[in-house]
Amino acid sequence: MSEKYILIVEDEKPISDILKFNLEKEGYKTRQAFDGEEGLNLAKAEDFDLVLLDVMLPKMDGFQVLRELRAVKKSIPILLVTAREDEIDKVLGLELGADDYITKPYSVRELIARIKANLRRTVSEAFISNDETGIIKMGRLVINSERYEVTKDGNPIDLTRREFELLEFLAKKPEKIFSREALLEQVWGYEYLGDVRTVDVTVRRLREKIEDNSSEPEYVVTKRGLGYYFKSIK
Ligand code: CA
Repeated sequence: MSEKYILIVEDEKPISDILKFNLEKEGYKTRQAFDGEEGLNLAKAEDFDLVLLDVMLPKMDGFQVLRELRAVKKSIPILLVTAREDEIDKVLGLELGADDYITKPYSVRELIARIKANLRRTVSEAFISNDETGIIKMGRLVINSERYEVTKDGNPIDLTRREFELLEFLAKKPEKIFSREALLEQVWGYEYLGDVRTVDVTVRRLREKIEDNSSEPEYVVTKRGLGYYFKSIK
């Protein structure tokens, strides 16, 4: 497997250098950007496998970078680094299309584990799409795993990588109820580090895009107290 290329967007040079050192020790290739503008330009110009994005940045904050980057690169994994123990930061980041977040102060070990989990998804996806026909049709939705495309009534729906993965995962086993913990483990790829609310936020965003009425979902349905499932529509 070729070496993975990670963009570190962090304005505090000592922190950025520690990240660079540790990521390179793990075998990743890295590139550093020290403000939001530089980060966005680099992320657009080069082919990164993952972007590590600090929220508090000069020139352009991480949320703005996230928003603009998502508009042009829908599927690149973006791991948001929030400085405060602020729920709003995390939720806003996920709403804007971050794949995951980590709160400062974090341990390097935890960060590496998150990065690996987010990169692992990319590898297993390639395997799945080679192995199956890759098209799921349910009601008015068509999910094409090979092309990462979802259409409803033939119209394309813009999903982030994580929204797509969650939908695809649920749709492969219609009617099966998955707990939020199980989804976190199997879709996000880690067991103990994540927050189950990440799943709720992603489900909410997904519903806003695929459902006619997101408060009365027809596809991704809540089983109260148990989790979520993809409804089999006849
Ligand atoms: Ca910062």
